[in-house]
Amino acid sequence: MDQPIGDSDHGINLARGFGAVKQKAAVMEGQDIGTALKTAGMTLVSTVGGASGPLYGSAFMKGGMALAGKKEMNLDDFLYMLDAAVEAVKQRGKAVEEEATMLDAMCPSLGAMKAARDEGKAAAEVLAEGVKAAWAGAAHTKDLVATKGRASYVGERGLGHQDPGATSYSFMLEVVAGALK
Ligand code: ADP
Ligand code: MG
Repeated sequence: MDQPIGDSDHGINLARGFGAVKQKAAVMEGQDIGTALKTAGMTLVSTVGGASGPLYGSAFMKGGMALAGKKEMNLDDFLYMLDAAVEAVKQRGKAVEEEATMLDAMCPSLGAMKAARDEGKAAAEVLAEGVKAAWAGAAHTKDLVATKGRASYVGERGLGHQDPGATSYSFMLEVVAGALK
């Protein structure tokens, strides 16, 4: 996905970064949630060369700060953590929604999950709705002209291509939802 509108490395970047996170699993096992997320974020920042490293890295680190010291998290904690993660990407990337980035999966999925939570739905269902909204948001990036990152260099030629970061985020949320199930 990163080939027609970028430099073909998004999948490679994330495989390297999360491979390194996986190697820290034993360390993270003994950490509270906030510290574990911080460990993951710092590992991403230090192992991923592309823009997605500092962006996802900041998301995990700021998400971790939101859950500092916690040994357990409930649905409200999870959404509070994602609020911090979204804010981190917005700040770090100087980006907003509708610029064809990972935010176009992150923001609508968080909105959908908050709405489902407010309707009193159970966590598994809330996550399932988040995943659906993330993929819809990722698909919507095909209709957007990118104004941030490498995809902005191709301008309107990027129309019709789904943003790699919005896609990787949708996969991540899907994995979390699957684990919860
Ligand atoms: P690079 O663009 O440096 O090659 P990657 O290919 O790993 O890095 O990641 C590209 C993804 O990062 C894009 O698909 C987009 O979702 C996201 N991205 C790039 N720049 C920004 C930004 N300024 N704000 C938010 N997300 C961004
Ligand atoms: Mg790239």
